[in-house]
Amino acid sequence: MEHPLLYYCVKCEQLKAIEQAGVLFRTGFYRAQYPLGCCARCKQADPTV
Ligand SMILES: [Zn+2]
Repeated sequence: MEHPLLYYCVKCEQLKAIEQAGVLFRTGFYRAQYPLGCCARCKQADPTV
């Protein structure tokens, strides 16, 4: 499977470039193709994520 270029930030609720991801979850996907994650900004705002 090719590495996706986008991920879905669960806090912002939008797709973002994967290189800006603070955290990527391996357990879920958005629309079956984009990995779920959390951008660096959201991660800073909520360190428990
Ligand atoms: Zn975010």
